[in-house]
Amino acid sequence: MDFSEEWLQRYSRHIILPEVGGKGQKKISSAKVFIIGAGGLGCPVGYYLTAAGVGTIAFIDNDNVELSNLQRQIAHNVKTLGINKAESVKKTFELLNPDINVIAIKERINSGNILNLIKDYDIVVDGSDNFPTRYLINDACVMLKKPLVSGAILRFEGQVTTIVPGEGPCYRCLFEEPPPPGLVPSCQEAGVLGVLPGVIGGLQATEVLKLILGKGNPLKGLLLIYNALETNFRKVKIPKNPDCPICGKNPTITELGEYTDEYCGI
Ligand SMILES: [Zn+2]
Repeated sequence: MDFSEEWLQRYSRHIILPEVGGKGQKKISSAKVFIIGAGGLGCPVGYYLTAAGVGTIAFIDNDNVELSNLQRQIAHNVKTLGINKAESVKKTFELLNPDINVIAIKERINSGNILNLIKDYDIVVDGSDNFPTRYLINDACVMLKKPLVSGAILRFEGQVTTIVPGEGPCYRCLFEEPPPPGLVPSCQEAGVLGVLPGVIGGLQATEVLKLILGKGNPLKGLLLIYNALETNFRKVKIPKNPDCPICGKNPTITELGEYTDEYCGI
């Protein structure tokens, strides 16, 4: 990962950018990113962060690759059907970039393991597909003051926001509590256009690289909403809620509680 000929060649299109340069590429090469879910969003985020040379990337996923995943989960393939998704993406990404360290964790993320799992990473990426997990990740990142790049997709619409605890609002500032179970359908129930996670995951990977480099304006305090049918991007301001139960002045959530619905990759 030093300035070897191979390293310079592989990252030459980054290094030539004044905003990145050799110094920025070294930052990318020493960064550690934790991706929750090796599904629709985790695949494109992982693909681009691997190609960009992020030094350590961990994936946590407890599901196995199924045929119905291949319509959008582009890091899996027919040879990895039936194997764990985190293991499957590890195989793909190690071929793309053998310089980096890809860690596969075959577990379900929960309130008992999340703090310990993410504590040594610089940035967390949410590629989960259900509200309890989304809130669990938000709360854990606020507690540990970890930047979080959150993405969500359904049917033809997706959204992205970047949460930097201490600097901007969190997910609970936007919606204090998860919606009741069953109110918002899942991708399994409602469908999703296969390319949509590619757009949203690409945006999430961009946010991660900006945070690592300290360049540009991250989507702090902003929810970016993309509608694929209309080809429309909208930014909605998220005000910081001083009474937010986790990041407000007097937080009422001081430890991780129960986040009941089962986690599954998109
Ligand atoms: Zn908050």
